[in-house]
Amino acid sequence: MKNILFLVTLIVSPVFAHFLSITSAYADAIYDPATGTITLTSVLAGDGSSQTESIYATNVQVTAGEILSMGKAWPPYIHPSPWPAEVDFYDMATQELKISYIRTPDTSIELNDVVIKVGSVLGAGFSESISAGVADYKFRYVLDESLPNEWKNEFEIIMNNLQRDIPIYAKSEWYSMPIFAWKSDAERPLPFVSGGCICGGGGEGGHFRWMSLEISASEFEYNNIHRYSLVPHEYFHVYQLSHVDLPGFKWLMEGPAATLESIYVQEHYGIDYFSTAQGPNLSEQVRENPSSYESYSASREADINYSGSVFMTLVLSAELQKQGLSEVEAHRKIFRDFNLAKPTLENWEAKFLEVFLISVDSFYSIIKNYELSYDGLLPSEDLKISQIFSD
Ligand SMILES: [Zn+2]
Repeated sequence: MKNILFLVTLIVSPVFAHFLSITSAYADAIYDPATGTITLTSVLAGDGSSQTESIYATNVQVTAGEILSMGKAWPPYIHPSPWPAEVDFYDMATQELKISYIRTPDTSIELNDVVIKVGSVLGAGFSESISAGVADYKFRYVLDESLPNEWKNEFEIIMNNLQRDIPIYAKSEWYSMPIFAWKSDAERPLPFVSGGCICGGGGEGGHFRWMSLEISASEFEYNNIHRYSLVPHEYFHVYQLSHVDLPGFKWLMEGPAATLESIYVQEHYGIDYFSTAQGPNLSEQVRENPSSYESYSASREADINYSGSVFMTLVLSAELQKQGLSEVEAHRKIFRDFNLAKPTLENWEAKFLEVFLISVDSFYSIIKNYELSYDGLLPSEDLKISQIFSD
């Protein structure tokens, strides 16, 4: 009943679309021992599925009911500025509120991942409902001043396109991530953030992840499309990571991400990044020893700009089309269905066979039959990402 009240309170609040993205850091959740009130900077309420509406609200005040987990001590040094305020998650299925980071006003208590039942809801600032089937995973942007406004504007457009076409759904352990973007000739936003990656860190206080977009200054100088294509590449890794558990496994993670990156720039900018930036780096190693592309270290020198991982992805698509699938269906199997099958390091070969109807060994031996070139393998120019991810 209390939980129903919690939702009703959120739903009746006004909708303010600009709260869709949090661009500046405020305090996180604050527990005031004097009044027993918890103020949540922002909270996402959902059930972990794409089937129901979610609610996003800011400045929500609640009291705690039962405390299910006290979380872990979270010393301030792992939460430095400009790390953006955390989002909390109310799981409508289990009716539990997970507070990412909570502190008292005097910071005498700082905890990570506290889980409570909500006592009562005292009020909310603003809220919006997110329709079923619309991405509710929350990215928190930290876009450095060193980036031109043109880049920042384009970044927002790209993120909106990606969230529309490749929706990522929030769930209890996976609902929000900061994105740090800056120009490479400026100072890093935080000492531990560098390069282009989905990176992780943390320790005793808990694990945390972020997206790092270090945009090379030379890419602005030479108008290199990679300054934008990095965004769909890294975004797709977040989509993958919401389903798969393949740490350290290379080609099935990087091949689709780098291929999707090229499909994105083909669809939105009319640029053939496959032929200009990836294909020229192809190495014979991909035909001679494709299994070496399972490992980052074993293929590091051969797989420049993921040329070989992309080649394997393109060959897989070609083989699926030989089975009778359309181009869109073949891409859907690779980019969506394989991920939805939740492959892990233990079961990925079985999942590969189940989804693609070809064993990994057969696939690896077929690669030798292909010329070392992207010729004849490139996706059609009219292939759209939205087609790949919808039925
Ligand atoms: Zn990558």
